[in-house]
Amino acid sequence: MESTYARPAIAIAAAAIVSWMAYEALFQGFHLSIRLVLWLVGVATLGWLAYEHFFGDDYRPRTLVALTVVVGAVGVLEYRAQSAELTLGRAATYVAKRPVGVRCQGLLGHMVDIGQELGSVYFSAEGDPADVTHIKRDACAWAMDYARGNHHVTRDHAVAIEVIAHESIHLRGWTSESLTECYGMQNMVEVATKLGATPTEGQRLADFYYRMLYPLMPDDYRNDAECANEAKWDIHKGDPVWP
Ligand SMILES: [Zn+2]
Repeated sequence: MESTYARPAIAIAAAAIVSWMAYEALFQGFHLSIRLVLWLVGVATLGWLAYEHFFGDDYRPRTLVALTVVVGAVGVLEYRAQSAELTLGRAATYVAKRPVGVRCQGLLGHMVDIGQELGSVYFSAEGDPADVTHIKRDACAWAMDYARGNHHVTRDHAVAIEVIAHESIHLRGWTSESLTECYGMQNMVEVATKLGATPTEGQRLADFYYRMLYPLMPDDYRNDAECANEAKWDIHKGDPVWP
């Protein structure tokens, strides 16, 4: 297995991994998660095993291959998850009008979850919103399906886009559910276009939500008098388009 190319190849691979990690952490806003920490431990272990294998006298080709597969798979999963959160976070930031993040629920949280709410924002005792919203695993998956180019008007897409818009309004500092729901609904086009849809596609989704899903919301999420075209909470007064 010894070759004159082994040393530079390993050095280049290690440099590439470290640069990529630094780039993602500094410029893309990756956050530390349990999986990311495990992955970093895996990379460090892999580096040490590879060093021993190629430069020392501890040959463990099977362990090396197995660990490479595991580290690669975990890396892809984590990259996909963090990229999804960044994509959704950019849409939330646009609607919240300040830098905010989206955290998608992990598999473990999903399995023990019995709550009904698809998203949440914590508020401090002083009434200040947190800088991140926590979105349930299903809603994140539906939103990412939309972001990856499936712009069909479905219940799942409408719910997911509205949840992100709704929580982004909470992140602006609003706590009233009926007002947040009303502003959220009117910001679905903004979220949809930030996820790659055209304004027309986004409007179709908002129309669907308003007609089919808004009427099913609990009473404290609705205010039919204020939340209507040309009513008090219409954010595009004078524009016939609603919501
Ligand atoms: Zn809410």
